[in-house]
Amino acid sequence: MPPDPTSALRPTAMRVDPEACIECGICEEIAPGIGAAPEHVPVTRQTLEAMAACPTGALRWSEGEPMKQIDVRTIRPRDRHPLLFQAFDDLEAGQAFELVNDHDPKPLYYQFQAERPGLLEWEYLEQGPETWRVRIGKTA
Ligand code: SF4
Repeated sequence: MPPDPTSALRPTAMRVDPEACIECGICEEIAPGIGAAPEHVPVTRQTLEAMAACPTGALRWSEGEPMKQIDVRTIRPRDRHPLLFQAFDDLEAGQAFELVNDHDPKPLYYQFQAERPGLLEWEYLEQGPETWRVRIGKTA
């Protein structure tokens, strides 16, 4: 049986551990404003880069509800968009999931804009060349 593409979970936020932070400022250079809410830093492309660059490992995953990851690379192409629209419709306002694909899912972005106007948050976490990851959130 193929793995369930929606079973993987990813954290939605990270935090700055004050015990480990040496206030070097590297994370602020990469993700300005990251220290404004050190207990709840949202996972974005910039904050992921900051986490990777932190010399002490002070940027850590937060506890709490993780974000569902949907890897459509193992899904038949014709089934992908219905699966993703269902996942989107199942989100509560403010929730998100992470889409993983082997090409830029830009057509999906336009389809969401057309069919769920005003509700979509779309943020690239990784843009190729082999893997694309997008945080897809629901605003209301
Ligand atoms: S990069 Fe790490 S050690 Fe440097 S300020 Fe940011 S959290 Fe602190």
